[in-house]
Amino acid sequence: MELSKTSSSQQENNSEKTLCKECQHCLEALELVLDKEASQEDMAYVKSHLETCTHCLDCYETDKTLREALKNKIAKKCPNSLMDCIKEKLNQI
Ligand SMILES: [Zn+2]
Repeated sequence: MELSKTSSSQQENNSEKTLCKECQHCLEALELVLDKEASQEDMAYVKSHLETCTHCLDCYETDKTLREALKNKIAKKCPNSLMDCIKEKLNQI
């Protein structure tokens, strides 16, 4: 009788989630777009990239929703004058 020692060591190749250069560039530009600081070039790049990349589109949607939720929360809590004050401060950064 033969004992076949087959150690089944299945190495799962967890492909690291490294973003391709295009996505990296897109996500950087995305931040600027959401901060309304993007140049037209950035905006155009993001726009065209989001049409082809669902990953970045996902990031964009999540980020946008998050920011809007945050904004609404702040807006509800703070009086208008305070909002203006915050906006002013943000512009100064
Ligand atoms: Zn992408």
